[in-house]
Amino acid sequence: MELNNRFSLGFFPTPLTELKNLSKIYSSCNLFIKRDDHTGLASGGNKTRKLEYLIQEAIEQGCDTVITAGAQQSNHCRQTAAACAIANLKCHLVLGGEKPEIYNGNILLSELLGAKIHFTGENRKGEDIEQIYSSLKLQGANPYIIPYGGSNITGALGYVNAVKELQEQLTGRNLKLDYIFFASSSGGMQAGLTLGKMLYDLEAELIPINIDKNETAGQKLEEVIFGIVNQGKEMFQINKAFDYIDIKLIKDYDKAGYGVVSSNEIEAMNLLAKTEGILLDPVYTARAFYGMMDYLNKRLLPEKSNVLFWHTGGLPAIFYYSAEYMMKI
Ligand SMILES: *Cc1c(COP(=O)(O)O)cnc(C)c1O
Repeated sequence: MELNNRFSLGFFPTPLTELKNLSKIYSSCNLFIKRDDHTGLASGGNKTRKLEYLIQEAIEQGCDTVITAGAQQSNHCRQTAAACAIANLKCHLVLGGEKPEIYNGNILLSELLGAKIHFTGENRKGEDIEQIYSSLKLQGANPYIIPYGGSNITGALGYVNAVKELQEQLTGRNLKLDYIFFASSSGGMQAGLTLGKMLYDLEAELIPINIDKNETAGQKLEEVIFGIVNQGKEMFQINKAFDYIDIKLIKDYDKAGYGVVSSNEIEAMNLLAKTEGILLDPVYTARAFYGMMDYLNKRLLPEKSNVLFWHTGGLPAIFYYSAEYMMKI
């Protein structure tokens, strides 16, 4: 497997920096951040890494159109629209719910980036992709389907490679990480990090914060991750044991439901913005960051641990959720 075989869409490596002010507040640990909100693709985010491999595959298969699915404020869909613009591919987005009167946040950007948007009402997780695929085929297109969140083995390669990138940064500054917190939702990032950890002997423990308590296409998130990791183990001929119970997913912070902004998320957004000048999105990174804050407040990590927050992007959603923010401050 050739990890260099990808279509360049972003600026890498993304910065790895210390959260100096926050490390003073939570003085028991040293806090670091990996800035995948700065991948560079139309406001950045973690889907850029996945799309480098997915778009490469679409081009290699001779496709001229990409279809993918997400929520109305999908960061994945916005980055896919941008990737398609760069790669000269047509982009069809399959979004749940009804057409909103005003486009705002990610959906506004997806439209601006040239995507054709299909609204699918109650079918919120890409159930209509096959039907749209067939009708585009009949019209003579050759579409490539990217699953919900870009989470399959091809997309996960982005985070296998990201571990290699991180290891180089850590070696370069003689730093060892103990824990990595991040938001896990459709599973591709977690599967990729898990594989990367095995391939590149990254010692840090992953602490994935679960974002969406619902299943995708009848599959539990653990099942999606397990499937991708097993495919990857075969692809990279990794002989290490990996069982279903080895999949960690912290489900203590998802109770409000997907896309529902609670006081937890507002608290996290406020803290990081006001101490470090860094913006979190209200759906994913604020929920995951709150999880990390809770671990630190409860002293659940050993003293002097080096703790990384992997920022996965999502900035445009802030503008969609401005009313929720105003109500809770
Ligand atoms: C998609 C997304 C995630 C979750 O990544 P998955 O690979 O889907 O688990 C986290 N943060 C942001 C901002 C995202 O857009």
